[in-house]
Amino acid sequence: MERKMEENNDRDVEPGSETGGEDALVGNVNKLTVSPPGYNGPLRKGHLIFDACFESGNLGRVDYISDFEFDLFIRPDTCNPRFRVWFNFTVENVRETQRVIFNVVNFSKTKSLYRDGMSPVVKSTSRPKWQRLPPKNVYYYRCPDHRRNYVMSFAFCFDREDDVYQFAYCYPYTYTRLQHYLSSLERRNLPYLQREQLGLSVQQRQLDLLTITNSDNVSSEREKKLVFLTARVHPGESPASFICQVCSWVNLYACLIGVIDFLVSQHPVAQILRDHVIFKIVPMLNPDGVYLGNYRCSLMGFDLNRHWQDPSPWAHPTLHAVKQLIVQMNQDPSVSLEFYIDVHSHSTMLNGFMYGNVFEDEERVQRQAVFPRLLCQNAPDFSFSNTSFNRDKVKAGTGRRFLGGLLDDTSYCYTLEVSFYGYMTAGSTAPVPYSEEMYMKLGRNVARTFLDYYKLNNLIKENRPTNIQSADGMSQRDKSKTGSSTGVGRDTGDRKKEKSQSFGH
Ligand SMILES: [Zn+2]
Repeated sequence: MERKMEENNDRDVEPGSETGGEDALVGNVNKLTVSPPGYNGPLRKGHLIFDACFESGNLGRVDYISDFEFDLFIRPDTCNPRFRVWFNFTVENVRETQRVIFNVVNFSKTKSLYRDGMSPVVKSTSRPKWQRLPPKNVYYYRCPDHRRNYVMSFAFCFDREDDVYQFAYCYPYTYTRLQHYLSSLERRNLPYLQREQLGLSVQQRQLDLLTITNSDNVSSEREKKLVFLTARVHPGESPASFICQVCSWVNLYACLIGVIDFLVSQHPVAQILRDHVIFKIVPMLNPDGVYLGNYRCSLMGFDLNRHWQDPSPWAHPTLHAVKQLIVQMNQDPSVSLEFYIDVHSHSTMLNGFMYGNVFEDEERVQRQAVFPRLLCQNAPDFSFSNTSFNRDKVKAGTGRRFLGGLLDDTSYCYTLEVSFYGYMTAGSTAPVPYSEEMYMKLGRNVARTFLDYYKLNNLIKENRPTNIQSADGMSQRDKSKTGSSTGVGRDTGDRKKEKSQSFGH
């Protein structure tokens, strides 16, 4: 077998189970051709070529087991070999009808939604929309061959020789995709949207801050009600980005939108919210980690969501910048910071749900439960019973806990979690797998829950029709708008075509 590993730095990683493999894996495979051992002839179709040297890519090593079976090793987070969950790689030079089994052998987690039916996602050159693999092709078990580590195996049948196939832990959402999305938003010159660079990451990537509000709000004398949202502090938790917004590419396929797109839309609910509330959104708190294909950490191996108490400007510059801004706003008497919500994804739980803080004051406890209760009414996939309030020691450095202690008792701090896999609804007997669109829909439902909350609290006394009852929550007018803004409509023909584009398994 020929193996070509990307050159990387010579950082020492301790061997042993903590690193999840015999070798320290510090780089991604780079167009690695895996032919049978001892084979020296010309490259043949079916000698698979693996690659993960692209943005958000992750695959550290491939072992040839047989022509049909390969062991795959996740490349651990940079500078932190304890985290090995996210993978994202391509396979090409396949033979038509070639059946393979891929074993992902070095997960750092033992509990996994793979037990409950979760499966990796796949797309290919000719079928560019991500799909989840059928769960019947996925096995998760404790393997004696790999130090009794948990192994996820999946069977796959390649069907088009010229296609490049891509497999990932969940729907990827890259830093570049976010940048394109934000640029396209900026080009619309919306009077109620402002984009700023809040800082730079260690590798000099942009830390973006969006402010969405009616400009009268900023200049007015009355107290400014502020909602602060952050996402992707944990880089592998890509569903958080779909909740936050949507890339225009996906808009070609669906009229569903996440938080940001909803808040900048002409939807009546969005207009009312912009008139009363200032939304500050940091859509990617850990841009280096996202770019590098890490699961949990920054470039330097820090779990930024454990450093809120004392972030350093050189080791955790993005976190430092966000915290400074929040502390500053908190000291401004004209600002009332009402909500801080940090969006994450969960690798072992189903549904959307929240974590909140524990308070002595019973009335505060009750008030804190209001937003998740309202969200539960608006979002069929959000579970109030999974929502919990805690003060675990290990979570003391999280944004939710730290800011819960810093801000006064009229502020609410939550972590919003959404399952990497799926959700159960009232009548369902099995989990419904999340699609990209369903993640976005949860985002939209979070946004519109602010209206319910502020109506309940008498800040908003609007009687304008808000028209949020239609099936996907958008009026026909909005639907045609979404279609025309991207220049591409979607008809039933597209849907049919999509069906015929599934993978043969
Ligand atoms: Zn997280």
